[in-house]
Amino acid sequence: MSGEVSPPQCSRAGCRAAASWLIRWRNPRIHGADRWKSWVACDEHRDYLREFLAARSFPLDVSPLAREVSGP
Ligand SMILES: [Zn+2]
Repeated sequence: MSGEVSPPQCSRAGCRAAASWLIRWRNPRIHGADRWKSWVACDEHRDYLREFLAARSFPLDVSPLAREVSGP
């Protein structure tokens, strides 16, 4: 059997923790209205990355990282 999927790592530089949050954001200066970037963050760095983007007035959306779940 295969299918072992390693969890995504936090987007914070130097952090290797498993991410559990999805941060979608865009830079209005260089991205079109339908062009969103995605970062993932661990619990520790979710607020750090959100503040980083908020400080630049970038539109952003934070949501729990969906896990692929098969079966009950
Ligand atoms: Zn992290």
